[in-house]
Amino acid sequence: MRRLSNPPPHVYANRAFDRAAKARTDAAWLAEERQRPTTRVLLMSGLRVMVLDDADPPCALWLTVSELDRPLSDDALFLGREHGVSAFALDLGQDQPRPGARFVELRTVGSLMPADEAGLLAYSRGLIFWHQRHRFCGACGHPTRPEQGGHVRRCHHCNSLHFPRSDPAVIVLITHHGPRGERCLLGRSPRFIPNMYSTLAGFVEPGESLEETVQREVHEEAGIHVHDITYRSSQPWPFPASLMLGFHARAQDDHLMIDRNELEDAAWFTRDELLDPSRRPIRLPNPDSIARHLIEEWLVNDA
Ligand SMILES: [Zn+2]
Repeated sequence: MRRLSNPPPHVYANRAFDRAAKARTDAAWLAEERQRPTTRVLLMSGLRVMVLDDADPPCALWLTVSELDRPLSDDALFLGREHGVSAFALDLGQDQPRPGARFVELRTVGSLMPADEAGLLAYSRGLIFWHQRHRFCGACGHPTRPEQGGHVRRCHHCNSLHFPRSDPAVIVLITHHGPRGERCLLGRSPRFIPNMYSTLAGFVEPGESLEETVQREVHEEAGIHVHDITYRSSQPWPFPASLMLGFHARAQDDHLMIDRNELEDAAWFTRDELLDPSRRPIRLPNPDSIARHLIEEWLVNDA
């Protein structure tokens, strides 16, 4: 394979946003920012984001503190700063959307949005989810309280600190060079929509390197051994809490032994089979995913 250029930032990877990690440790400064009329607030409901009804491309509805009908509460999460203005996210629970707006799942609009916007919404979603699932201390079971604008939770019973977490998962484009040229391996989970095939993926286990996870997952799911494992790029995937680490790997042989508990099917595909969208025998993963990127990148690179 010829040398690949740098991958573009993936959807949901926000590359131009200041998280202001030092500033958020100052509780008095955060309190001021919560009251500042120009501070921006992203409203969410049950992890869904509020977007404008008629915007094309889709666009989240941000309000300023002065436009809110109530003070910005202490549980609003500090996201960071952009152009000197602080931004917070607030989950309203089951509240009603504003007129002219609606709540939607981020994945239904993410790939259509400007990259920076989608990244900021994904960050908000991931942080809100973490708070929802870490209300109690994992060490002693007592309630925890957010600090630092929501970037840590403290247990005041045993003084443990709990930090937002992302679960690393590998995702790998496997190729094999045989008599029919180079082919890539794609599989489908029973959870996928009909006829969709994707790259193989799995979570990293404790004590495991990323390369070991690639080897283990591929062998467990498809019964093949891989080598030449190379890292490609990563994508935050807060649906709900993953970090996808994209790899390439080569299969030692193309004989599959599929674990039907993990995969409904897996098969090898040539570039010719997948290149033309109108003639593809399968459906590729959604355009917002690193899986789709790994496949598309392989399709346009000659072996
Ligand atoms: Zn505790």
